[in-house]
Amino acid sequence: MKELKGKHTQCIHEGQLEDTQFGGAISPIYMATSYPFLEVEEKRYPRYFNTPNQEVVASKVAALENAESALPFSSGMAAITTSLFAFLESGDHVVFQNEIYGGSHHMIVEEFSKYGIEYSFTKGLSVNDFEKEIKKNTKVIYIETPSNPLLNITDIKAIATIAKKHGIVSMIDNTFASPLNQTPLDFGIDLSIHSATKYLSGHSDISAGIVAGNKEVVDKVMHTGRSFGGNLSDFMCFLLERSIKTLGVRIEKHNENAQFIAEKLATNSLIKKVYYPGLTSHKNHQLAKEQMHGFGGMLSFDLNDSLEAKTFQKKLKMIRPSMSLAGVESTIIQPSLTSHALLSAEERLVQGISDNLLRLSVGLENKEDILEDILQALNN
Ligand SMILES: *Cc1c(COP(=O)(O)O)cnc(C)c1O
Repeated sequence: MKELKGKHTQCIHEGQLEDTQFGGAISPIYMATSYPFLEVEEKRYPRYFNTPNQEVVASKVAALENAESALPFSSGMAAITTSLFAFLESGDHVVFQNEIYGGSHHMIVEEFSKYGIEYSFTKGLSVNDFEKEIKKNTKVIYIETPSNPLLNITDIKAIATIAKKHGIVSMIDNTFASPLNQTPLDFGIDLSIHSATKYLSGHSDISAGIVAGNKEVVDKVMHTGRSFGGNLSDFMCFLLERSIKTLGVRIEKHNENAQFIAEKLATNSLIKKVYYPGLTSHKNHQLAKEQMHGFGGMLSFDLNDSLEAKTFQKKLKMIRPSMSLAGVESTIIQPSLTSHALLSAEERLVQGISDNLLRLSVGLENKEDILEDILQALNN
């Protein structure tokens, strides 16, 4: 097939396996864990990330990320830890963005010191905040944008540029945007990482992770990954391939629905503040416009002090107060009770996370129904 250009086309066709036996329209599932070794160019094995179904997912996501190569992992955290440990050894230092996924933060704080790896968290998200933390032994710089839960935006190009200037590997957690809304390699980032449990899967039923980048960088992650063993099973690869076929249409609808809800909530007197990069009132709207193809399906809002977050959530009829995000169904969480529960109330306030902050993962239901559910819970 000639090179595929359109993102929706890539979602559907890129990397698909031919069913040479029966001519079926979809990739067959190859569950084998045993392949030949005599006179073969490449010995296949699931933990080597080179089985047929693993290669389908890898080439699809690589195409979507404008990358040369990708690897499917069994979770987002497997992708994140393997990527970091591939480039780090005892005595090295990493600069992390201060606002990152809770699980990543926990892993860094719990595990890094065991291996003699140093790290700093930035004080803010400006380029200067990152550059200030770079030391002689800094080997990796790690960002996450839009961030959780306040949807703050980091300047991807500026960070990639300072990383290159200092000869540091740059990594991004691209989960919130999805490859349809943000392609960080275009700005010079070395590795784009996803919890594929979220938008890439999109149906709240697959645990997976993805790493995408240029071949040399991804090969290094693969080398470490073959020892760490966080590969995705072939059956899950099949399901993930199936999910990604609709990623293009899903993301378009997530973007549309979230923009609609954000605009409606922004003018509601029972809502104190809405955080969504697609609102012109968002402090980094211009930057988001420059580096994102769409603003995504995640938004957060502060309820007025007259309302109580728990009571509000219990009144919701359709939107589910539920962990995780990015499913076809709308879900909501209260960060003070979940991702940021381990911080003190004061620490949370410093980060701008009030007890009345709610993070909404806007699903694919009719947008009027999503709005209606929020309004009835606000007003009753
Ligand atoms: C969920 C999530 C992760 C971790 O992924 P798992 O699949 O749960 O291991 C990492 N980063 C972000 C932004 C996430 O939302």
